[in-house]
Parts: sequence; C-alpha cells; structure tokens
Amino acid sequence: MQLISDKKRIYLSAPHMSGLEQKYVANAFDSNWIAPLGPHVDAFEKELASYTGVNDAAAVNSGTSAIHLALRLLDVHEGDTVFCSSLTFIASANPINYLGATPVFIDSEPETWNMSPQALLQALHEAVHQGSLPKAVIVVNLYGQSAKMDELIALCQLFKVPVIEDAAESLGSTYKGKASGSFGRFGVYSFNGNKIITTSGGGMLVSNDIESLKQARFLATQARDQAPHYQHSQMGYNYRMSNVLAGIGRAQLEVLEERVQARRAIFNRYHHALSPFPGIQFMPELKDTRSNRWLTALTLEEKVTGISSQVLLEALAEDNIEARPIWKPLHTQPLFEGAKYYPHSDNESISEQLFATGLCLPSGSGMTEEEQMRVIECIQSVLIQEKSITA
Ligand SMILES: *Cc1c(COP(=O)(O)O)cnc(C)c1O
Repeated sequence: MQLISDKKRIYLSAPHMSGLEQKYVANAFDSNWIAPLGPHVDAFEKELASYTGVNDAAAVNSGTSAIHLALRLLDVHEGDTVFCSSLTFIASANPINYLGATPVFIDSEPETWNMSPQALLQALHEAVHQGSLPKAVIVVNLYGQSAKMDELIALCQLFKVPVIEDAAESLGSTYKGKASGSFGRFGVYSFNGNKIITTSGGGMLVSNDIESLKQARFLATQARDQAPHYQHSQMGYNYRMSNVLAGIGRAQLEVLEERVQARRAIFNRYHHALSPFPGIQFMPELKDTRSNRWLTALTLEEKVTGISSQVLLEALAEDNIEARPIWKPLHTQPLFEGAKYYPHSDNESISEQLFATGLCLPSGSGMTEEEQMRVIECIQSVLIQEKSITA
C-alpha cells in the first residue's frame, strides 16, 4: 500500500532563480572576489537601500545576525528586557537570548495578525510603572503583511523606545506607500532559501543612521580596531555576506517586483477558489498597505467547516503537498517558558487563536498554475467531502 502519493512534491516556498544570477556569480569568479565582502556586497547594499528608500544597508550572513547586530547597537545586555511580537519565527527572539536579555512577548491584533498596539500600550505602561522600559521593541511583519506601524511607532516614540522592524518576510511590501522595513530605527531583511528573494542564506540590516551601520559592519567583522596589527577592544562576530552570495542577491533584487506580483496572483487564485467556502478566512490586507503575500495564510473555523487545520494539513501532506501551521506563538514555546506575555485583551489571545486555526499554503513564485490547481482541488475535495458527511 502506498501512503504518500507518487505525485511530484509541491513545496511551501522554493527558491526561484531568474537565470540572471549566473552572470553575477561568474563575474565574482572571474575577478576572484570569492571573499566575504567585495564589489557585489557594496553594490547589493546600495541597491537594496535605494529600493527600500533608506540611507544605508549592511549585508550580513543571515536575518538572525542582522537582528543580533541591531540589538547590540541598541546596547542590549544582561538584565535588559526587549519586547517582541509573539506570533513569529523563533529567529525574531533568539538574539535577545544571545545577549542575555529577557524577552517580553506582545500579542497580535486581528487586522494584520501583527503586534497589537493596545497590548503594546499595556506592556509599556506596566514597564514604566516598574521603572524598567525595554531597550527595544521588535515588530514583525508576518507573511508579508505590514504591522500597524503608525500606531506602534507613535507609542514607542511616546515612551522613547527604539523599534527594530523584522521585515524578513515583507521585502517588497509597502505601508502607506513606503517600504516595509524602513520604519524602525533598524530594519531587517532575510534572504534565506524560503524567502521572497534569496541568496541561499543571507540578511540585511538597514537604517537611516549611517554611523550605526558603520558600527554594525565593524562588529560584523570581528570588531577589529584600526591598528597595523590585529587589535580588538570589543567582542565582535563573523557575520558579513560573501561576495558570491551578494551577486545572487543583486540578480534576485532585479526581479523582486515580479516575485511580488507572482505571489499576489497566487494569493488571488486561492482566494477566488476557496473564499466561497463558509468558515474559511484569508489573512487580511490592511488598508493603505500592499502585502507581498510571501505565504498565503488562512484560518478554518472548525464549527463551520467541520474540519480542523490539522486535518487539512494531513490531507495535503498525503497528496505530497507541503503546507505549514501558522508560527507557534513564542510565549507558548518551551524555550520561553515563564516569559511575560501581553494578550490583545483580557479575554482574547489572538496569536493563540490564529495558531489553533490557521495554516500556510504553498506560495512559491515558481509554482505553476497546474500545481496550484492541485492544491486547490485537494482542499476543495476535503471541504466538500466533509459537507456531504455532515449533511
Ligand atoms: C526568516 C526569518 C528570520 C530570520 O532570517 P534568517 O535569514 O533565516 O536568519 C527572522 N524573522 C522572521 C520573521 C523570519 O521569517
């Protein structure tokens, strides 16, 4: 008996090369710039800064490194607290631990699935009361949807707490016409293999503060002081991006807009085919924002659909289709047991509701329409079957 279908696997978000990458990589080889740093790194930084409308960008070896550097630049250390969205990938918060600081998790709100301004306000109020404001607030833009930046930034300004925008998933998205990731003191992008554009692995730290990014580059190259010998007075890291990978990034950046269009078209097809089913809700797009729709995410109201998101995930897996649950909220992770958490309201934890009912569908920009139809038909058949059983 065959359990897994012999159909070709459909991935959640596979890398999508344009063909232009080889030209840049060949150039790196021809000039023997195989080192970390080099002309592609400089150019990639300038091009990304220009695309996102910020003063400067520093290319590093991962999005996680970029978050770590941002926290270091904000002087986070042991005994400090850092606020962070709860509904996100672990990489948003791991660097808080690297520095021995304590994370405090903030719930989502229903309109963007991102940080709830009212929960943040509550957390800031209590922090002031206890005389210990956080050193930073890490705001995540989930699945390409920008958080309510105006409200969140206004609160952080009021309490004079700097914002780090984790835009690892939202490169190419906009909020009121401005690039997602350009709103905080620092913004972070990721070029991991599953992101909207990729260098196989890599990240970028962006800021309008050019001096801070100079310091970031210094820390990212082992914090080597200016001296004829190797001299170090601070602890640094080996975090810079290789010139070969920056070449891939430059080619990918050229097609970013096409990638956003492709993912939005994928979202629209899912939405068109599945939103007629009662009990299915797609992740919203906030007014005056454009989501890159990195992943199409939706929730199932089990009382209405008759099936849970887990059952649907299993049915997709049997058809050799890779779908995923929504990120498990960080305040519920064993790693962060005992961490403080501020829900959206006293009786509503939005991140937990989304985790319990949501899933992400295959959304890679390289996916064909036939492949997407296979996903849609699988979901439709599960939903229709359920209807006929319960009818
Ligand atoms: C991917 C991701 C990161 C980390 O990026 P890496 O390049 O994989 O280190 C951080 N935050 C979020 C929300 C992500 O999805």
